[in-house]
Formats: sequence, C-alpha cells, structure tokens
Amino acid sequence: MKALKIAIAGVGKIVYDQHLPAIVANPDFELVATASRNHTIDGIAAFRNIEEMLAARTDIDAVSLCMPPQYRYEAARLAIRAGKSVFLEKPPGATLSEVESLRELAASHAVTLFASWHSRHAPGVQVLKNYLLEHPPRQVKVIWREDVRHWHPDQEWIWQPGGLGVFDPGINALSIVTEILPEQIFLQQAALEFPANRQTPIAAQLSFTDSAGTKVHADFDWRQTGEQTWDILIDTDDAHLHLKKGGHELWINQSRQELPEEGEYPSLYRHFSGLIRHRACDVDVAPLRHVADAFMLGQHIVTDPFV
Ligand code: NAP
Repeated sequence: MKALKIAIAGVGKIVYDQHLPAIVANPDFELVATASRNHTIDGIAAFRNIEEMLAARTDIDAVSLCMPPQYRYEAARLAIRAGKSVFLEKPPGATLSEVESLRELAASHAVTLFASWHSRHAPGVQVLKNYLLEHPPRQVKVIWREDVRHWHPDQEWIWQPGGLGVFDPGINALSIVTEILPEQIFLQQAALEFPANRQTPIAAQLSFTDSAGTKVHADFDWRQTGEQTWDILIDTDDAHLHLKKGGHELWINQSRQELPEEGEYPSLYRHFSGLIRHRACDVDVAPLRHVADAFMLGQHIVTDPFV
C-alpha cells in the first residue's frame, strides 16, 4: 500500500524525541514537510507556518500537531478544512469545547481526527486493563511525581493559562486510569497548589470515586528531585497490582509480568495509520474532562514562588 504523506507542525522536544523516530520506522508513513517557526528536520521541506505548508504541499495526507495545546486549535482547523487527517499530541486542546468543535469539523470533512494519549500505549496498560475486567479494583492510588526543572526546561507555556502545569504529566496518569478502570470515575475533592508567581499548579491531590464506591486517589507533584515516580497501585480482592514507570512495568503480587515490546509512539502511529485507512476518528476527552473538573472543583492553595 502507498505510504501516507505526513507533515509535522510544532517541531520541538517531543518531535525530536519520539515522533520523528516513530514515523521514520513506520513504512505506512513518509515524512514530507514540517511547519515550525524556528525548528526544522534535516532533509525535510520546512515551512514557517501551517498555512504556507498547506498551500505549497497539497499532496500531504496527514498532519501531526505537536505545538503546546494553547496553539493547536487554529492549526487543526486549517488542516482539517484542507482535507488532511490530524494527529493531536496530548492534551488535545486547551479547552473541552474546542476539541468538540474539531470533532464536528473532522466529521463534516470526512477526515480522521486522532486525539492521542501516548501513555495508553505503554506496554503494561492493555494487560492491566484485561486483568481488571476479571478482577474488579477495590482501591487505586496514583503517584506521579517528577522534577519539572529536568523535564520542562525553559518551557514557559506550561506555566501559562492552558498550559496545565502539573497536569501536563498528570493527564498521562489520568489517561491510563480512564483506560483501565472498568467503571467511569468522577472527582469528589481536589486541592491544587499554585506557585505565587505562576498561572498553573505545581502539585495536586485528587480524590475520585465511581458508582461502585471504588476509591481512586491521585498525587501529582512537580517538585520531586532524585528518583522519579510514575506509579499506579491497585488492590483487588485477591491481588496487589503495581503499574510502574508510566506503564512500562507491571507487577502482580510482586511478580513482574511479561509485556509486549512495542513502544508508545510506534504504537500510536500504527493506530493512526489504521484510523486513516478506515476513515475513522478516535477522540476521547475523558482525561481532559477530569483536569477541567479539578480546576472547577479544586481548592486553590498559593505556595512558594517557582523560579
Ligand atoms: P516544546 O518543545 O516547548 O514545543 C514544541 C514546539 O512548538 C516548539 O519547539 C515550537 O516550535 C512550537 N511552539 C511553541 N510555542 C508556540 C506558539 N506560541 N505557537 C506555535 N508554535 C509554538 O514542547 P514539547 O515538550 O515538544 O511538547 C509539545 C506537546 O507535546 C505538549 O502538548 C506536551 O504535553 C506533549 N508531550 C511532551 C512530552 C515531552 O516529554 N516533552 C511528552 C509527551 C507529550 P517553533 O518555535 O519552531 O515554532
């Protein structure tokens, strides 16, 4: 089958780290162009913005949008209106309503819209999901603690409205939780810590439940130095489950499980290719909805300035 011609808009950290190697290794895609104000990829046609790229390269089939979420909607709108399939990095937008608008636009133009959640493609996630179908969870504890200075150097957008702060990594945990739990959860209580000089939170405590009364607690913190923690601990009636390293290790009763080997981004692009071939969309806003709920319901606590 002919490779799909794909372009990337918003070239930065995640593109160099993950999108580029995943696209290059996938024979379903041929990277033909980028649209980015300051960054390029060696050997690939480069445009300063998406308008110029779409006008010059009408042969493009699909576009991956990897700029920060606050700047994604307009690029997505232009790409969809030009008839291109669109891959949205996570989170899919700055608001729930704009993602809904994109979903409708994609349907009316009969193109694929994929709101990607890379953590759902970590190798332990589907294995754990299947286990929980047979063994319902009784209690869930999420611990997502990392060092913002290490992972987001010089990224001002994460501290600006719409940048989500600690929910930028925390939404990855929520994308896993909403994928694996058999019941829908909803937020009951939250406390968000905002540095005095910033617009977005640096830490959050969230308490959820579901219609069966399952307790789900999430602890997100961006101030952790030393060892980093991306763990989900689940108790069922007969087992203790531990999803570690953002979904890359799964332990059941202290026994490490064999997991598939495919990486998150190769799996995302395999899924995107399938969606395009079937003219389908995949847009699940559940993780973003929980973050919106946290901003709506959460107690706001002012903490030390972040410098
Ligand atoms: P980044 O490097 O700060 O930004 C990506 C690129 O977007 C920048 O290099 C910049 O390219 C462009 N950009 C920045 N501000 C813009 C603006 N105002 N208007 C238009 N374009 C702008 O960020 P990133 O770490 O790659 O993250 C991008 C997205 O990927 C985020 O949604 C993040 O949550 C997600 N993500 C990141 C990681 C990670 O480890 N970093 C992991 C998974 C997912 P130009 O200056 O060339 O235009």
